[in-house]
Amino acid sequence: MLDSEFAFITRLERHFPHKHPLLLRGIGDDCALVTWPEKVLISTDLFLEDVHFRRSYFSPEQIGHKALAVNLSDIAAMGGTALGFSLGIMAPRSDSLSLEYWDGIMAGMARLASRFNVPLIGGDCSRGPCLGLSITVWGESERPLLRGQCSPGDAIFVCGPEGAAGLPLGLARSGFLALEELGLASLEIYPQATAAHLQPEPMLAAATVLASNAGVRSLMDLSDGLATDLPRLLGAEIAPHEGKRLTHGAALRMALEDLHPEVLELSSRLGRDPLREALLGGEDYCLLGVCESGAVEKLADNVPGFACIGEVTAEQELRCNGQELLSYAGPGFDHFRERGQA
Ligand code: ADP
Ligand code: MG
Repeated sequence: MLDSEFAFITRLERHFPHKHPLLLRGIGDDCALVTWPEKVLISTDLFLEDVHFRRSYFSPEQIGHKALAVNLSDIAAMGGTALGFSLGIMAPRSDSLSLEYWDGIMAGMARLASRFNVPLIGGDCSRGPCLGLSITVWGESERPLLRGQCSPGDAIFVCGPEGAAGLPLGLARSGFLALEELGLASLEIYPQATAAHLQPEPMLAAATVLASNAGVRSLMDLSDGLATDLPRLLGAEIAPHEGKRLTHGAALRMALEDLHPEVLELSSRLGRDPLREALLGGEDYCLLGVCESGAVEKLADNVPGFACIGEVTAEQELRCNGQELLSYAGPGFDHFRERGQA
């Protein structure tokens, strides 16, 4: 049980032992002292119990992993490299998590941090209504890949984990639906979908290769679903169902056999349209981007998990296999809409 903030921070520090050349002073002083690049990428994401994860089917290691992974994914989405992060912890007031549980959260986070050589520089702790983690991550990119840089004729691509059995679209949503319906039994039935929801892999390595190719023009990570995120990538200030005109359109082409077999299987079990799941499904944390059409071949050869899914058009309409995107999908996930996730 947590009974002393000082003892807790000391325990936490043991999980993050690694020194980093940019970290001049870490945990233990009023502020951290870090060497800062000339242009910095900065992003913050909250990770809250029963909003973003459930304790009933996430292991503590997966909670720690995913809280950091979704932040690192934003750095990848800019074609960047992560340089450091800070961590806010809210410990639930109502019940006391065991120290072993906290160790699990820290171990899962520390493992991912050390894989990408990102130091934890400090943070804060407080009691609160639920278990929650807030992370701010920063990084740098030689060529930050912004949204909204595209022209008609450019290719639209996704880039997911290496060696996946199909497009990563809708996979995490399928995992979420399976876990909600079947609980931990779904780990065996839908191993890749549940892993996509429980333990997403930030696409940092692929992002570096994409940023180094001059043909890649725009990049983002898919957190709210393709139907919502695609217009953002193409330069609409907000999604079209929220009332803004598109600056460009898209013609997507996706056959059912391109989708992940677990998305197909779960959709058939639940009586849902798998293409709709792929277009609507959020939290895939794969990369979505636009490149010049001439760059596709080289990227497909050099970037594992790269797949072209369509092209940018001048029509200011979003279509998939000829049909209007919103007629399949409706709006994607929105925390402030009452029923964002269908
Ligand atoms: P202060 O009262 O000055 O905010 P704290 O007592 O909250 O300091 O924290 C002491 C030290 O421990 C600081 O260096 C802070 O960055 C670090 N720290 C506190 N909470 C965390 C955390 N969740 N993760 C990493 N470092 C933390
Ligand atoms: Mg503090």
